[in-house]
Amino acid sequence: MEWFFYVTAALAGLLAGSFLNVVIYRGPSMWGLIEESDGADRGTLLAPRSYCPQCRTRLSPLHLIPLASYLALRGRCAACGAAIPPRYPLVELAGALAALGALALFGASPEALLAAIFLWSLIALAAIDFETGFLPDALTLPLLLFGLLANVGDRFVPLEAAAVGAAAGYAAFGLIALAYAALRGREGLGAGDAKLLAAIGAWGGWPALAPAVFVGALATLAVVGVRAVMGKRVDAAAPIAFGPGLCLGGAAAFLGSAAG
Ligand SMILES: [Zn+2]
Repeated sequence: MEWFFYVTAALAGLLAGSFLNVVIYRGPSMWGLIEESDGADRGTLLAPRSYCPQCRTRLSPLHLIPLASYLALRGRCAACGAAIPPRYPLVELAGALAALGALALFGASPEALLAAIFLWSLIALAAIDFETGFLPDALTLPLLLFGLLANVGDRFVPLEAAAVGAAAGYAAFGLIALAYAALRGREGLGAGDAKLLAAIGAWGGWPALAPAVFVGALATLAVVGVRAVMGKRVDAAAPIAFGPGLCLGGAAAFLGSAAG
């Protein structure tokens, strides 16, 4: 019977990833963080049905199938041939991996579903920060609250550790951002990073904070190193978002502390 749960988790994860792609594409415009160059509206999370951003052709149900449609179409819009960003299949794949990881760690349980929701939220936040440079309050703040609620009854970590984690995460990042701005003479870390770390603390408790920041910094430095090797600019004028790294660190720290 165990294979049945894993197949179900993988399919649910692909579908969740498909929905995350809608959030990643439409959220920033819906929340007023970015504006289309042509002033067009990207719609809400529920309407209209998914379309090609290039030619605006509505996708057929067959082309909404996660991952498989990308492979069948060889990464191009069926109507106009425009390249589909690799972010779509990557997010769908990440959604499936998150569901499988949650199931492997927590078994078929409410904990697995909650953990998957946390990981899916981090995927959306990482992709949005990568594409727009924003970590929307519309995602970080509900994630923080939901983390505290999830830990009522000491589900993943003791509720006190979660509350301290949320407060300390926000305060610590605020201090780091202030120190960074004082040292560099410019802002490098946004308020969104502080709210994200607060949410990570709410889910994984205060012991998850240091590992999350550490892994996040390592991942971000690795990206900076790769960019330097590839000959891209890495100076202060071309800032690299810390959010994606912090999401990765938060996922690792949460899974480490909650499953420990
Ligand atoms: Zn098209």
